[in-house]
Amino acid sequence: MKISDINPLRRPLILLAFTLVVSISCEREKPYSRETFVMGTQAWVTIYGLDEEAAEAAAGEALRELHRIEGFMSNWKKESEISLLNRESDGAPHKLSSELFHVISRAVYFSDITAGAFDISARPLVQLWGFEGGTAKLPTDSEIHAALQKVGYNKILLDIEAKSIIIPPGMELDLAGIAKGYGVDRAASILKKHGVERGMVNLGGNIYAIGSPPGRKGWRVGIRDPRGGRNTTGSLLLTDAAVSTSGNYENYIELDGKIYGHIIDPRIGRPVSHTLSVTVVAANALQADALSTGFFVLGPENSQNALELLRGVKALFALPNGGKVIYEEIGDFSGSLTIDDSH
Ligand code: ADP
Ligand code: MG
Repeated sequence: MKISDINPLRRPLILLAFTLVVSISCEREKPYSRETFVMGTQAWVTIYGLDEEAAEAAAGEALRELHRIEGFMSNWKKESEISLLNRESDGAPHKLSSELFHVISRAVYFSDITAGAFDISARPLVQLWGFEGGTAKLPTDSEIHAALQKVGYNKILLDIEAKSIIIPPGMELDLAGIAKGYGVDRAASILKKHGVERGMVNLGGNIYAIGSPPGRKGWRVGIRDPRGGRNTTGSLLLTDAAVSTSGNYENYIELDGKIYGHIIDPRIGRPVSHTLSVTVVAANALQADALSTGFFVLGPENSQNALELLRGVKALFALPNGGKVIYEEIGDFSGSLTIDDSH
């Protein structure tokens, strides 16, 4: 997990008398929470305000939805719809379920927005660098060049009417940078359908917050220290919005003493090293997920262009600076973000 929600019940009771009163009354209402392991990570659903039976039904359906989505979007499942597409990519039109068509269309949109930095066709590079298992080894320039020939979102052709796709032979799609966000949005809408007005879905650091916990202004979400470990370096307050963090600290390989993170610049075929982590706040989790990966590749300066095309998106970059970490914000966090850079 890259972002951990700080359980409001465990926060220190603070300062003012009235705050104390509010905190004590919150202590009475225990949230219902349930978790599962899905899409290679831990998922949590937290609900306030429903009786136990109703909360159990809502959380159960939300978590089942995540498993259902994994079932057709995961590259790890050989019989998933995405695996089938990848195996059969021969340059002919391939009919997709409307759901997969939708997610791939959104992915291509975010490729456009990020000038190709976010690209679901980067899979040959992800595999070449050893991020899908096998032995990691430093690829040669000619191997990178060969893999790059198979990459390029602009070679993905989508037929909106027929809900079909054409990808060139050899191209393979990888939804790891967007599927979790899609899943979180779906799970959150299921909670709302069950009448949840105060709840949270957290899928490995891809979070959607509905309303706020009782007596609170929002869900306090901790931002993990980009250098690894379980420390948080800051936090933000979230209501009716999504947040996602992409980082190098959880999924990386070490070659010749150097660390290579799992996010690849699809334009040059190499893992990105100029960024440690990016946290994106956006209206929905799919957007936050895709943009956190795309912005990771772009860095703060080049992400500004994308921000100008989008509304209500904010990003916090953790950047390496010698042995230290510096933070840079783009967009407007309007006071809800606090960074503790004392360490
Ligand atoms: P995580 O999956 O850990 O939440 P991300 O959402 O940032 O992290 O997605 C990273 C994953 O997406 C990688 O493990 C890889 O499978 C794939 N990927 C790597 N580089 C890119 C990229 N430039 N654009 C889209 N997907 C990418
Ligand atoms: Mg992502």
